[in-house]
Order: sequence, then structure tokens, then C-alpha cells
Amino acid sequence: MLQFGIDLGGTKTEIIVLDQQGQQCLRRRVATPSDSYDAIVATICQLVNSAADELNCQDYSLGIGIPGAISPTTGLIKNANTTCLIGRDFKGDLEQVLQHPVTLANDADCLALSEATDGAGAGFPTVFCVIIGTGCGGGWVVNGQLISGPNAIAGEWGHNPLLWRDDNDGQHACYCGQQGCLETLLSGTGLRLQACKETAIDQPAQQWQVQAEAGDATALAVLERYYLRLAKALAGVINLMDPHVIVLGGGVSNLPGIYQAVPRLWQDYVFSDTVVTPLKAAQHGDSSGVRGAAWLGAAYCGSAAQRG
Ligand SMILES: [Zn+2]
Repeated sequence: MLQFGIDLGGTKTEIIVLDQQGQQCLRRRVATPSDSYDAIVATICQLVNSAADELNCQDYSLGIGIPGAISPTTGLIKNANTTCLIGRDFKGDLEQVLQHPVTLANDADCLALSEATDGAGAGFPTVFCVIIGTGCGGGWVVNGQLISGPNAIAGEWGHNPLLWRDDNDGQHACYCGQQGCLETLLSGTGLRLQACKETAIDQPAQQWQVQAEAGDATALAVLERYYLRLAKALAGVINLMDPHVIVLGGGVSNLPGIYQAVPRLWQDYVFSDTVVTPLKAAQHGDSSGVRGAAWLGAAYCGSAAQRG
């Protein structure tokens, strides 16, 4: 059986088809018609049907990663930044048009499943994966299985507050209604906001990265404070669950020095004399989300545990 995966992003929608060994058979990317729910459903169905025709394959699993969550009580989409999805029975509507089972998951969960299956977390019993990009999400994989939970929010670490907060750390308002969520400090947007508070310079995270790589002292200091916050936040994860590996994905995970600085800094906050937890970059990079969606469909295909 082939494994079809779709990554529904705010600007692009991508399909990948993997064989049982994880080899890519097909990959295609189109623009997301993000302001029309019906057009999004049609786009996905068209991608799936044309891939199935091209590969002459009707026996496939289908997983879809979405920028949001599926309410476990109603089955409807919630917390999606592609807002036309909110309140919709996305799984049901896709299944009706495709006449095929669909498994949905949050995009951070897809990253986690991808990296745990055949990426930077492969071979580790427990994997905690973080996306630090536009937002700040996370996902747990234990013995190859994605962990969900009764509220379908396992790994939603970005909406906890910062631990061991000090006077430098801003209490920025978060879209979730709280103040000072990790997402408001650790996402790309959060890095920009907090750096602006500290230096009165308003520029994107990537620009701080460029300046730090050129040796600029202000940029290096901004990033060192960022690394300390990330280290404190991940120390809290280690104290709670002690994962065998932590994997970082998303645009901010490319910051220079992050994989040296954070493990050096978290030593002071983890409740252990030594901390041996590896901190790794996502191996599949931008492909992780769509690959994880493909593994997701296979893992839950035909199972009573089907999510969403
Ligand atoms: Zn929040």
C-alpha cells in the first residue's frame, strides 16, 4: 500500500506519496486557496485523485497535516490560522468527496511523527519535537506512536508560560487570551517582538540571525537571551517527561549556535547532576510535515484509534 500525505499550509498545499520504506514516489505543491473552504477541499481532492491516477493506485492511506487542531468533542476544526477551516467537519467533508478514509493531525504532530519514524528521532523510544516558526507547537511520539490525549493537545507547550522568568522577559499578549505564553517569546514573531522591547530595533528573526553570524554584539546578545529562554522552556519539558531526544524544526531552529548554546544553558535548570539529552535539528527540514502526514495515514489507517 502506498502512503499519501498532504501538508495544508497557509500559502501552499503539498502532497507526497511514500512507499512502505519511506521512498518518495511523487511530490507536488500548489497554492492554497486559503480564503475559501470549498476551494481547499477541492484542491486537496484534486491532488489526491490525480496522484492516485498517475500512480495507478487505489489502495492507499491518506493523512493530512493542518495548521490547527481537531476538537475531540465535536470533530470540528479549532485554533486554525487558516480561519475558513474553523468550525468545519473537514475530515467528514473530505471523506465524502474522496470516498476514502482520511486521518487529520496538527502540523507539529506530523513533524514529530516524521522525525521519530525516519528522521532525527529515529531509534529513540521517546521523542519530543518542537516547531519554532510562525508559531510555537510541539508533539510527542512514544515507541513510534503519536500521543494525543483526551483534549487532543498533547505537546501544546507553546501556551505554557516561561519558567524561571526574570525581569528581561516580556509579558506579551498571546492570541490564545493569556499573557506571556512561550509562543510570544520563542516563535519567530516572538523573537522579533521581544528583541524590539530589549533594543528598540524592530526587524525579523532572520535579520538578527544574519547580524549575529557577522559578529554583531547586539544581535549576539539578543540571541543569547533567546537561547536562555528556550533552554528554560525545554528544561521544564525534560523535568516533566525526560524525553530520549528533543528535535527542533521550523524557521527559528536554523539560528546559529542554538544546538550548542541551549544544552549548555539548560544544565542549570534540569533537576539532574548531568543532562545527556540530545538536542537535534529536524533531519527532513521543510519536508517533515508532509512526510509525517503520510506516515500518519499509514499508522492510523483502518484503526479504531483514527484521530479527528
Ligand atoms: Zn498562548
